[in-house]
Amino acid sequence: MQYLIEKINKIESHIKESSASSEEITLELIGIIKDMASEIDTLKKSNEELENYINSIDEDLGTMEALFLEEVEDTDYEEICDDDFMEINCDSCKETIYVDKEIYNNRKEFKCPNCGNVIEFAHEI
Ligand SMILES: [Zn+2]
Repeated sequence: MQYLIEKINKIESHIKESSASSEEITLELIGIIKDMASEIDTLKKSNEELENYINSIDEDLGTMEALFLEEVEDTDYEEICDDDFMEINCDSCKETIYVDKEIYNNRKEFKCPNCGNVIEFAHEI
């Protein structure tokens, strides 16, 4: 676009110095407008290409995201839960309580957060 600025500067000095007829200046201006129109056209085309490219990346990301979420839901998530927590049923209120495995392994009993009943773990420390 630098050449357009140079052309405009040239016309500007022609006008200031009155070194060109108004007809010449008008023709030069028309030339610049035509150049600008073709520049805009080129930009528009490359913009469209870029837009298509971004859309295809976006689609790929969506597919990857869906695959990833599917995988996490299927396996990893459940495994993480199984690994870290013990599932215990309260004798008193019959509520299912999830106790951290570390707590379970280091204590003999656990107070039910639901009813306050003390649940004894079926293991020795
Ligand atoms: Zn309970």
